[in-house]
Amino acid sequence: MLFGELAKYYDRLEEVSSRLKMIDILTETFKKAGHEEIGYIIYITQGVLAPPFEGIEFGVADKLVEEAIAIATSYTKDEVEKAYKKSGDLGIVAKDLKASTKLKSLRNSRYTVEEVYNKMIEIARTGGEGSKAHKIKLLADMFANSAPDEVKYLARYPLGELRMGVGDATILEALSLAYTGSRAFKGELERAYNLCSDLSYVGVTLAKEGKEAIIGFKVTLFKPVRPALAERLPTANEILEKMGGRAAVEQKYDGFRLQVHKDGDRIQLYSRRLENTTGMFPDILEAVKREIPAKRIIFEGEAIAYNEVTGELFPFQETIQRKRKHDIEKKAEELPLHLFAFDVMYYEGKDYLNEPYEKRRELLEHVLEKSSTIRPTTRIITSSPKEMEGFFEKSIENGLEGIVAKDLNSRYIAGARKFSWIKMKRSYKGELTDTLDLVVVGYFLGRGSRAEFEFGGLLCATYNDKRDMFETITKLGTGFTEAQMAELKQTLDRIKIKSKPARVDSIITPDFWVTPKYVVVVKADEITKSPTHTCGMEKLPDGTEAGYALRFPRLVGDEAIRKDKSPEDATTTREVIEMFKQQKKVRIDDS
Ligand code: AMP
Repeated sequence: MLFGELAKYYDRLEEVSSRLKMIDILTETFKKAGHEEIGYIIYITQGVLAPPFEGIEFGVADKLVEEAIAIATSYTKDEVEKAYKKSGDLGIVAKDLKASTKLKSLRNSRYTVEEVYNKMIEIARTGGEGSKAHKIKLLADMFANSAPDEVKYLARYPLGELRMGVGDATILEALSLAYTGSRAFKGELERAYNLCSDLSYVGVTLAKEGKEAIIGFKVTLFKPVRPALAERLPTANEILEKMGGRAAVEQKYDGFRLQVHKDGDRIQLYSRRLENTTGMFPDILEAVKREIPAKRIIFEGEAIAYNEVTGELFPFQETIQRKRKHDIEKKAEELPLHLFAFDVMYYEGKDYLNEPYEKRRELLEHVLEKSSTIRPTTRIITSSPKEMEGFFEKSIENGLEGIVAKDLNSRYIAGARKFSWIKMKRSYKGELTDTLDLVVVGYFLGRGSRAEFEFGGLLCATYNDKRDMFETITKLGTGFTEAQMAELKQTLDRIKIKSKPARVDSIITPDFWVTPKYVVVVKADEITKSPTHTCGMEKLPDGTEAGYALRFPRLVGDEAIRKDKSPEDATTTREVIEMFKQQKKVRIDDS
C-alpha cells in the first residue's frame, strides 16, 4: 500500500464524529493492506514505532520537525514557527507550506507504508554526534518527496501523535471485522493482546496465521503480560461476599510494580506501563540472578524501599526517587529495594495464567524459598470479616497502603480490572477521599486573572470500557499552580483538534477539544447526579437523563499530568458508579 493511500484513510478517520464509522474506515484500511503491512499500519496508527517495552523512541522534538519542514519547503524557520503558533499543529503546517511552496512539488506519493516505517526507524536509530542534523536531513528528504496530504501525517508521526483518537480497543474491533467478518472475535484478539502487549504482533499473527493461532496464543518470555488490575470495595464483609466466603488477603505495598522475565542469564524488568526498566534497578537484577533458581520464569511484584535495620517500609514518595535516571548505582546503595512478589505467570516452559491463584502462589513460594531481597507478599487466608479487618488495620499501622484480597480459585486475568482481586484502602472507608484519574478531552481559555495564561481549566472524562468511549464528568478549574497551567496549556496545544473526537461523549463544548491522551489526578468532595455530564448517563424515572459529576473538583499532585497512565487506564465509568453507591451507603450508615 502506498503511504498516500493510508493518508487518505487517515483524513477520513480525522473527519468522522462517530466511533462506529471510525471502525468501518479502519476495517476497510486493514482489508486493503497486505499481511506484513498490517503490522506497520497498526504501529503508525498508534503513533509508535514499537511496543513500549522495546524502548524504540523517535527522539524527535517540535523544533527538529520545524527545521525539516523549512528545508523541504524553502520557507524560513521563522515562517514555519509563525504558522505553528497559529495552528498549533505541525501536521497542518507541513501540509499547507508544502502545498504552497514554490519548489517543484510532488502531487503523488513515492513511498510505500513499509518504506515510511523503515525510514522512521532509521531516524529513531540515528544517535551520537551530529545525529540531530542527520535526523533533520532524513525527515526533510521524506517531506520533499511526498505530497502535501502525506506530509501532514509524516510530520505528526515522529511527534508520537496522529490526532485521530484511535485507541487499542478500536483497532482490535476493526481487526476482528476485517479478518473474521464479525465483531465476535474481538474478545480472543484482546486476550492475545493482553498476553503479549504488542498490538501489531497480534494483527500480523491474525493476518498471516488465522484465527487458530490467536486462539492458541500463549505468554512469551520478553513480551510482558498486561497486568491484572484490582477492583475496590469498602468493607471486609463485601469483599468476602464477592469472593464466596473465603479469600487470601495480601498486604498492599505502595511502590512500583515490576514484571520480571528470566531466561537463563537474560533478565529483563518491565514497569506497570510495560516499559523496559531493567537499567533502573541493578539491585533487583542482581537479586534475581542470585536468588531465583528457576531457569525460565515470569513473575511479578511490587518494588519498595525498605530499611533493613528497622524493618520499616518507605513511602512511595521516597521510593520514587529511585526512578530518577541519575545516580542509579548510588541510589541503589542508599535506598535498597525489596521486591514483594505476588504472582507468577510462567515457569520452566509452562503457562500458569489459567492455573488457580492458590496453585500459582504455592509455586511462587517454592521458587522464593531461599531468597531474601525478593520475597512473597505477607498474607493470610481467612473467611472471617473480623480477621480481615484486623489484618487491614495492622497493615495500615505498619505503613502499608491497605490490602488486596484475592479469589483463591481465580486465574490470572491479564489486562483487566476484575473482582478476582479486590483492594481496600484506608480512604474508601469514609467520604470521597479517594482520587480519580481523569482523561483530559478539552480545555477552556482563561478569563479574568487567568487571561494571561490563556488557560482557564480542563474538561475531564472517565473511560467507559464497555463502550470504549470517554464520558465527561467534570470541568476542572482549581488546584493548578501557575507553572502547571503554563505546562498544561503548552502540552495540550500540541494535541488540540478542530472538532469533538469520535470517542468522546460530551454535552459541553470546551474552547478547544484535544485528543484523549493525558490523565490528571482529581480530588472532589462528592459524586453527584448531573444532567450536564455524560459519565454513566441514564434515563431517570421522570424521563429526564442524568449522568454523574464531581462536586468541588480540584487537581492534586505535584505533576499536572500522570505520565504513567494512558487514557484507557483512567478511572472507569463503572468505578464512578460504584463509588457513588458506596458514598450513599456511608451516609446511610452514618445517619
Ligand atoms: P491501585 O494502583 O490502587 O489500583 O492498586 C493496584 C496496584 O497495587 C497494583 O498495580 C500493584 O502495583 C500494587 N500492589 C501492591 N501490593 C500488591 C499485592 N499484594 N497484590 C497485587 N497488587 C499489589
